Amino acid sequence: MTVKEWTTGVIKQAEIDRYLAGGKDFIDEAGIERELARQRQPDAGRVREILQKSLEIKTLSPAETAALLNVEDPALLEEMQETARAVKRKVYDNRIVFFAPLYLSNLCVNNCLYCGFREENKEETRHALSMEEVKRETAAVIDEGHKRVIAVYGEHPRSDADYIVDSLAAIYSVKRETPSGKGFNNIRRVNVNAAPMDIASLDKLRRAGIGTYQVFQETYHRGRYAELHAPASIKGNYRWRLYAVHRAMEAGIDDVAIGALFGLHDWRFEVMGLLHHALDLERQFGVGPHTVSFPRMQPARGSIVSERSPYLVDDESARRLVTAIRLAIPCSGLIVTARERPSARRELLHLGCTQTDASTRLGIGAYARGLKQEENADKVQFTLGDQRSLDEVVRELAEDGVITSFCTAGYRCGRTGERIMTMLEKGVEGKYCKLNAVLTFREFLNDYASPATREAGERLIEREIREIEADAFFSGRGLLPLFSSYRERLEQGERDLYM
Ligand code: SAM
Ligand code: SF4
Repeated sequence: MTVKEWTTGVIKQAEIDRYLAGGKDFIDEAGIERELARQRQPDAGRVREILQKSLEIKTLSPAETAALLNVEDPALLEEMQETARAVKRKVYDNRIVFFAPLYLSNLCVNNCLYCGFREENKEETRHALSMEEVKRETAAVIDEGHKRVIAVYGEHPRSDADYIVDSLAAIYSVKRETPSGKGFNNIRRVNVNAAPMDIASLDKLRRAGIGTYQVFQETYHRGRYAELHAPASIKGNYRWRLYAVHRAMEAGIDDVAIGALFGLHDWRFEVMGLLHHALDLERQFGVGPHTVSFPRMQPARGSIVSERSPYLVDDESARRLVTAIRLAIPCSGLIVTARERPSARRELLHLGCTQTDASTRLGIGAYARGLKQEENADKVQFTLGDQRSLDEVVRELAEDGVITSFCTAGYRCGRTGERIMTMLEKGVEGKYCKLNAVLTFREFLNDYASPATREAGERLIEREIREIEADAFFSGRGLLPLFSSYRERLEQGERDLYM
């Protein structure tokens, strides 16, 4: 089959139409703009009522979110940020989950004007990793101390669903002895960021053990979407993408992730788009997105749009948009990535984010070869703002009182989808996460941390253990003896113990 023939067969119209409501999408541009205009200059009393609703861990309505997006008063903005931090603490406590992105292929049939992988970018050298190369990349990621990855693929017949299935098996198959020779390390959860697929392909991914399936809409604004994506390309089909994670839910992948590429259109509009997306998932499947991402567009080789878009988001607006998302969708995880400069990443993390990456290398095959982005600029998608190692970022967070978690237990204990979201809402899942954060952070400190990181980490772990021992939730359920026996077994060299 030629690439063109493959491309023509991807979109299944019936797998779009079944999600429409009365022939319409859940994104109504005029409606969003009307709502944003109607909520200009919200009064402080109403804003405080909305903040109270967030604190009760309830998803906000579009009108409420539009009001928050329109707040300009610095004191009120500060109150919103305080509340965002409180919401995060209530649902996720002081934990950040770490992952590494693993780029497997930069072949792509699309031509998104902001992306270095786009087909017409002749400056890019193309490669799809062989399964042996995937294993070598995985080994290098594991040797940094990582335990979860997000595998990333361009859209191409050479990186189709079968390739993704094979690569998941390759990643899960790698097991490495730790540097001390005591214990082992491996990747325990593989999330996937790949182009929209049909339900049958998504079902294959589910059976192969995919963690979360992530697709970013890029922009929710149809007019802007059409300017950036050639209409005849697969990606040019706005609706095929809009329902990508609906199809994943239908295929039984119940942890799905949404996002928008901030910088392509007005940031307030995009936040509203994300909210409507979350609400439609709740409406059709009873559960919202597992995570929400808000990557800020970074310079990409061969892309003028990536540097000159009129909608690029400055740091102040980035803080406002992250605060608004945290408040509007309080149960979902929020991901901030190494696209951000270290100072911006740190600030955004503290506004209620729950996941981040570190020691990130975007080049295809760059982990195994130890290449920084400057050294393989022809194989990266865009420029990273933060190339620090996992050890450095973990230490910075530990010094800020934030515990690193590599926990992947929820997924393996069946705490996913609606079940995990309800548990998060009730504050129960967070309790188990607290135990698993300590266990997985312990593994990292024993196996990979530098002396300075270990010192900061030990102080934090001791504090966490004191909190756990004083909390009636744990003693009341008899969880403490098991927890302490797991800690002892980790010291003896056992690994991957979770509750
Ligand atoms: N090809 C798949 C797709 O389009 O869904 C995988 C996505 S791509 C490799 C991962 C994400 O990177 C895109 O969805 C987009 O949001 C983001 N991205 C593309 N260009 C970017 C840029 N210049 N700066 C930051 N993020 C970018
Ligand atoms: Fe291809 Fe995805 Fe990049 Fe678009 S964003 S060019 S689909 S890799």
